[in-house]
Amino acid sequence: MKVCKFGGSSVADDIQVAKIRDIITADETRRIVVVSAPGKRHKDDTKVTDLLIECAGRCLSEKDHTEVLDEIVERYAVIQRGLNLDEAIVEEIRADLTARIARKEEISAACFMDAMKAAGEDNSARIVAEAFRKIGVPAEYVNPRDAGLLLSDDFGNAQLLPESYQNLEKALKDRDYLIIFPGFFGYTKAGEIATFPRGGSDITGSILAAAVKADVYENFTDVDAVYPVDPRHVPEVSVGISEMTYREMRELSYAGFGVFQDEAIIPAVKAQIPINIRNTNRPEAPGTMIVHHRRARQGSVVGIASSVGFCTLYIDKYMMNREVGFGRRLLQILEDEGISYEHMPSGIDNVSVVFREDNFTPEVEGRVRDHIMRELQPDNLQIERGTCLIMIVGEGLYYTPGMAAHATLALFREGISLDMMNQGSSEISMMFGVQSSHREAAVRALYHAFFKE
Ligand code: ASP
Repeated sequence: MKVCKFGGSSVADDIQVAKIRDIITADETRRIVVVSAPGKRHKDDTKVTDLLIECAGRCLSEKDHTEVLDEIVERYAVIQRGLNLDEAIVEEIRADLTARIARKEEISAACFMDAMKAAGEDNSARIVAEAFRKIGVPAEYVNPRDAGLLLSDDFGNAQLLPESYQNLEKALKDRDYLIIFPGFFGYTKAGEIATFPRGGSDITGSILAAAVKADVYENFTDVDAVYPVDPRHVPEVSVGISEMTYREMRELSYAGFGVFQDEAIIPAVKAQIPINIRNTNRPEAPGTMIVHHRRARQGSVVGIASSVGFCTLYIDKYMMNREVGFGRRLLQILEDEGISYEHMPSGIDNVSVVFREDNFTPEVEGRVRDHIMRELQPDNLQIERGTCLIMIVGEGLYYTPGMAAHATLALFREGISLDMMNQGSSEISMMFGVQSSHREAAVRALYHAFFKE
């Protein structure tokens, strides 16, 4: 039995929804369908979720929202007209949105925002179910509340409550109709809607696959496979990854591989359900399988990811290694400012800490500097912004000598200086820090070194 999730581009219009119907009816083991909200139809289009956020924002600031509301309804009307569905569905969607807006005064702003955001996938599931019934396939929209998908009340960043698995198994397993389930949201114990972080329909799919113990979780998107490098940086990349492990995917999605929401992998990993990334527009392509274990050739790299927006703090202090509690006190200073660190490579007399730049304002930086100088009295303290992290990932890196040398030589040949290197605790990845302006050149150089030489 397969659980299939279709992303925003796969429900963007009537033509895409028709492709979903073809894919599902071609394989009778595809029994549960999770859908996103309609996404972009072309480069300059707007995702329905973004329209909903704008609509909610307008409501909250008492601005006129009728135009954007009409635009949202029209996105569903395109699907209704194109597939010749009953017109009533569009009116139901408008009524649903109006009812959500009417609750604005009853609930907090964060709760209201989530209820609005969730309308994208909720109505997408309703219309997709209708599209299946239109061609005689028994299909039912299932509401996450009825199925017992319970979440914490961290609006916009909700976490799954563990009892959901049992509820979902009971509600969804062995049905004699096709289940169409909206992604991205669930309900709090108090009965309010809460959403996962953006891109969270992947998480819903993964949870459902784990709950019903699916044989495969098929994640349909708009690329043939996961590529070893981002094609925007290396356009000549043509061969996708046929198989990779959960660990490899986790490391790559952390460092910027956008194909799969990075939290989404966890439920499938725990239940050991293989994930198959596939293309709605080319369903004949086998896609990328993400599995628990694979046999990797020694020294082989599966992918190279890069991510910008980091800061690096360097500290030198002679005999640091002898000072008990130095690392703890340094991290405490960052913790006091609410900064969570990403990496912390260290030497005998030096240590660097990498963290995200987002909330590191000049005022925070000033306080951190003063605090460190006072408390730790380093010989040298430097903070550099604009760090890009590059991650080279592969099960084949495990105990293979010479890999770091190969990478650093490739960067050296391009004249790219390394700000930081970390090949510590993860056996399957190496991480480099370079200046963000060198991002593309660095990724290209490493791609050529590991995939072309
Ligand atoms: N529609 C939501 C978003 O745009 C969730 C998703 O598509 O996975 O983030």
